[in-house]
Amino acid sequence: MTYLWHPFAQMGAVSSGEFVVDRGEDVWIWDAEGRRYFDATASLWYANVGHGRHEIREAVSRQMEKIEAYSIFGDFATAPALELAERLVRLAPVDDARVFLSSGGGDSIDTAFKLARRYWYEIGQPERTHVISREHGYHGSHGYGTSLAGIPANRHGSGPLIEDQSVVAYDSVEALEARLQEVGPERVAAFFVEPVIGAGGVYPPPEGYIEGVASACKRHGVLLVVDSVICAFGRLGNWFGPERWEVRPDMITFAKGVTSGYLPLGGLMVDGRVAEPFWGSTDAPPFRHGATYAGHAACCAAALANLDILENERLIPRGRELEGELLAALAALDDHPLSGGARGGVGLLAAVELDAGLLTSRPGAVSEAFALMRERGVLVRALPSSIAVSPPLTATPEHFALITEALAESLDVLAARARSAPAMSAG
Ligand code: PLP
Repeated sequence: MTYLWHPFAQMGAVSSGEFVVDRGEDVWIWDAEGRRYFDATASLWYANVGHGRHEIREAVSRQMEKIEAYSIFGDFATAPALELAERLVRLAPVDDARVFLSSGGGDSIDTAFKLARRYWYEIGQPERTHVISREHGYHGSHGYGTSLAGIPANRHGSGPLIEDQSVVAYDSVEALEARLQEVGPERVAAFFVEPVIGAGGVYPPPEGYIEGVASACKRHGVLLVVDSVICAFGRLGNWFGPERWEVRPDMITFAKGVTSGYLPLGGLMVDGRVAEPFWGSTDAPPFRHGATYAGHAACCAAALANLDILENERLIPRGRELEGELLAALAALDDHPLSGGARGGVGLLAAVELDAGLLTSRPGAVSEAFALMRERGVLVRALPSSIAVSPPLTATPEHFALITEALAESLDVLAARARSAPAMSAG
């Protein structure tokens, strides 16, 4: 019996048996019984440099010997927070950028949503309050992120959420254009977009989509907020994600890979024009928003050491160099009767859709496949109708073969189960 309430978990099932992670090294993790697993998901899409890097541990320790943390509210600052801000500004595809630091992805989304509305208010267009997001989109589980959710199950039963917001098809510039006309573009504050949709199923954008929505936003004066919580720090083969399409967003949210998860940290890159109403003069109003641990010194030290590793070991381009091989490894199973096809090819993340008939007859098929792969020493992510992978950037094609092998065997087991117990539903 556990007392730990696990996020997104069916606790009735989990409480009778948890999977306890004990240690990690590069792409491997070990459970409490000493069994080794390939971490095909980089934990929750974040261990970009792999596990157990002593450089990050030592940098955090050095910072803690000086001071573990101090608030950066008002005019307070710490050296690692200042250095990180300067470094991120140099790397981001954002004009005249400023950085607002937070504790994670959900915090960054809340910050972006509030700042978008507040910006328009400050420059005399308070009617611009409507915010648009996409089907399948995931923007965290805080209040604003839940409102933006393109995964209906994540809003279910929450009662009234943030008003004046809508969701459009994930793959159509025309759908965004149509929604802008319905609402009235002069009423729209911002459009939130993940470069590659992650937790909602790993959906790369169709050809021309990112450029198309960026241009629609520009034409209508709508702020483009790119949610790169998953896609930054090498996942798409560059620093922030949008560089692939040569667009320059008004804001970019980030978290996860900025520290590779060694300590929690997130943030928001903000275009200088959006920052201006708050920075432009000594009596400009404050943005009355921020988390206690924003700019936490030890977390910023972890981020700096992580950025050093990403840079020195040339890990950033690997997201792009390996994307084809990862997709090919999964697509090798496209002919399996229980595979609904592999998706990916844009960055080091991909998914295998399970066969629609199987999902209908066995609603728990994704969880079953996930458990079967874990028994075979490969940790994957169970999404609503697919199995997703996003290995550390230090992984190699030999590791991808482990995923293919474990998935093939697991689908075979599922096929046998489906033959012997056609309509069982697993948890
Ligand atoms: N945005 C995206 C695209 C994410 O994938 C996530 C988390 O997976 C978040 C936001 C929320 O981040 P966090 O879980 O750190 O609050």
